[in-house]
Amino acid sequence: MIIGVLALQGAFIEHIHMFERIGVKTAEVRLPGQLEGISGLVIPGGESTTVMKLMHSYGLVGPVGKLARGNMAIWGTCAGMICLSSGALNPDGTPMQTLGLMDMTVKRNAFGRQVDSFESNLHITVLQGGPFPAVFIRAPFIERVGVSVEVLAKLPGGEIVAATQGKLLATSFHPELTGDARLHSYFAGMAGK
Ligand code: GLN
Repeated sequence: MIIGVLALQGAFIEHIHMFERIGVKTAEVRLPGQLEGISGLVIPGGESTTVMKLMHSYGLVGPVGKLARGNMAIWGTCAGMICLSSGALNPDGTPMQTLGLMDMTVKRNAFGRQVDSFESNLHITVLQGGPFPAVFIRAPFIERVGVSVEVLAKLPGGEIVAATQGKLLATSFHPELTGDARLHSYFAGMAGK
């Protein structure tokens, strides 16, 4: 099994290293042809407007949507979660264009300036072995989830920061920047099914 990691911008190397640590093969994806033969795709954190722009330029929007509808596993972290959503709002309330794959509305840079970056020990419903050390960097949170979306984690303030819908997974934070590979294993499990 090979997990593709979208390598247009942002924290893709860190995801590749995490998968390597747990013995999962990866492939960098920049062009539509590189989607062939993968069992799952990670859209990493970075800058969602840039990632969307580059996905359009490289002709990836259609093919990735097709794979998602064909039930391939896709995991969006932070900016990647924004890309996966069916609707994203900029901090000023204006909408942003997304891939529209997962039935949820997210708010960008949702935690305000004073807490641009922070860590939180999260209880994630699908993980065993105690709280997950989640790193948030100018992170979005999920404001609305559709009926087919299952919430996996919330912050103490109630903000939804992890969710799944079928074989789609979204996390507001950066699991690839911690030493904890449990979410990478969890996603590899989803992709292998
Ligand atoms: N603030 C970024 C965006 O809106 C996301 C930040 C991140 O991926 N760490 O796209």
